[in-house]
Amino acid sequence: MKLTVLGSGTSSGVPVVGCRCGVCTSLHPKNKRWRCSCLFEVEDKKILVDMGPDLRNQALTFNINRIDAVLVTHIHADHILGIDELRIYNVYQKAAIPLFGHQTHLDYIKNMFQYIFDPQRKYPSLVPHLTLTPVEGLFHIGAIPVQMIPCAHGDAGPTYNYRVGDIAWLCDTNGIPETSFDLLKNLDTLFIDGLRSNPHPTHFTINEAISVAQRIGAKKTWFIHLTHEYDHDLFNTTLPEGFALAYDGLCIEVP
Ligand SMILES: [Zn+2]
Ligand SMILES: [Zn+2]
Ligand SMILES: [Zn+2]
Repeated sequence: MKLTVLGSGTSSGVPVVGCRCGVCTSLHPKNKRWRCSCLFEVEDKKILVDMGPDLRNQALTFNINRIDAVLVTHIHADHILGIDELRIYNVYQKAAIPLFGHQTHLDYIKNMFQYIFDPQRKYPSLVPHLTLTPVEGLFHIGAIPVQMIPCAHGDAGPTYNYRVGDIAWLCDTNGIPETSFDLLKNLDTLFIDGLRSNPHPTHFTINEAISVAQRIGAKKTWFIHLTHEYDHDLFNTTLPEGFALAYDGLCIEVP
């Protein structure tokens, strides 16, 4: 199986609009961070995690030629505002795309995007065809087992993150419940929110993320949902062995 990081950035993306800092003006491709998202490829299935506002560019850049399912982590704008970009896949695949997520988040999406989900809609052009599929715990996409991992996200929480095989993607969190640690044993690769160094009410700082990741004990840990505080190459030299900043386009293959 394979995971591609489509976006490693925080809600503003990097560069931040209007910012002239060294990272935002850097030409280094690893200092450019689209909004947080990834693509799992398992057997013949392509499973997208979140549909943020950069989805169109991510799909073009990383040649995403089909999407079999979407896993929804939560309903913040940087994770759902690309929902309309899914409609082109309906055209190619001639089928609805299932959106898996917690019932509360799917209800919110249904309410927020009424032009998509209203059965009486008279919207004159093509809308995405999506099947809202509430899940909890362990569920399956085709034959592929997927584990939902509840995480705290401050007052905005919870976030429902996901583990597929031995890879876990934990975006937007500032706390892992004890019951979720139990679901994260024997990981090969962990992706975890490591927003910035200063405290934040809904995200881990990098030091909090490092200590949580040390407890989880994956073979390799990558930090995601990153601000413009990090110069990729410089900051990576400060991280302990086995830990690194993720970057857009990073591709991990696990047997
Ligand atoms: Zn976010
Ligand atoms: Zn900046
Ligand atoms: Zn969030």
